[in-house]
Amino acid sequence: MIQNQNNMMKGIRFHGRGGQGMKTASRIVGTASFMEGYFAQDFPIYGAERRGAPIMAFTRLSNNPILERGIIANPDINIIADETLLKDNAANILQGTWGGTITLVNTHYAASHVKETYQVSGKIATVDITDIALKIISEPVLSSVAAASACKLTGVISKESLEEAVVKELTDINLKKEVISKNTQAALASFDNTPSISFSDLKLSGEESKNRIIRLRYEGPYVGSASVYGHGNTITKKTGNWRLFKPVIDHETCSRCRACFVSCPHSCISLDESGYPQIDYENCKGCFICMDECPKQVISKEREVRAW
Ligand code: SF4
Ligand code: SF4
Repeated sequence: MIQNQNNMMKGIRFHGRGGQGMKTASRIVGTASFMEGYFAQDFPIYGAERRGAPIMAFTRLSNNPILERGIIANPDINIIADETLLKDNAANILQGTWGGTITLVNTHYAASHVKETYQVSGKIATVDITDIALKIISEPVLSSVAAASACKLTGVISKESLEEAVVKELTDINLKKEVISKNTQAALASFDNTPSISFSDLKLSGEESKNRIIRLRYEGPYVGSASVYGHGNTITKKTGNWRLFKPVIDHETCSRCRACFVSCPHSCISLDESGYPQIDYENCKGCFICMDECPKQVISKEREVRAW
């Protein structure tokens, strides 16, 4: 049954990197909306389909049948699940945000700092959903926690519908019951940690409030694809900002066997004058093959704390 008879449509855009779970997040919000009694639509869009590459996913919910199709160019809610995307010009994640947009950034920085640094339009909230996922799920998988934040920001989806949607969507992809249970707990924690922001608080100009037209813009490969798009450009395209964890070598106990040096698939480990391995953190993607290959187990995993 439709709860709200007023004419309401919300467009939610999710930005993340391949592997973080944004497609599933959009599905969870779509299913939660449906369970709440709304019409819903959800879908992802991919550029380069690989882990770490920028991806987008979308959810629309409305109390009327949804006739709009295609990407959400002017989101009401913009979820940025990876703060490093703010620095990635190719990802263009603030495109189309306007005075009526609520943006949520996954970071430990204050909302005022992010708004000022990136001149974000509309309202902004920040929640460290990665921290919630690591504490409860023990993995940096963000589908449930990002979906929960989006549900809270809509102002019309209840915790009960969120919980039901998380269980349904994660059961559909064959996750174990204990993993689903942790995801549900994490989702509820994320919901509680996300502030309530009223759309009616947003001050819109007449032009902005009417701007719902979708323009599908052609982007050439230099702009439209992920950061690394062609031969010989990896010197200028830093891929180190894809990491959530970084490998750290304990040089005190390293035997200089070079196993890490030869096994890094991205050639991010070089040897210094004394033969000790040194990691190029500007390009290391955090795959941890080096850690798995180190026979002395002297490479550890540390949570990345970024400074913009
Ligand atoms: S984590 Fe992966 S990319 Fe980074 S140095 Fe180790 S093997 Fe290379
Ligand atoms: S594999 Fe381990 S022990 Fe060998 S050089 Fe690398 S860090 Fe040192």
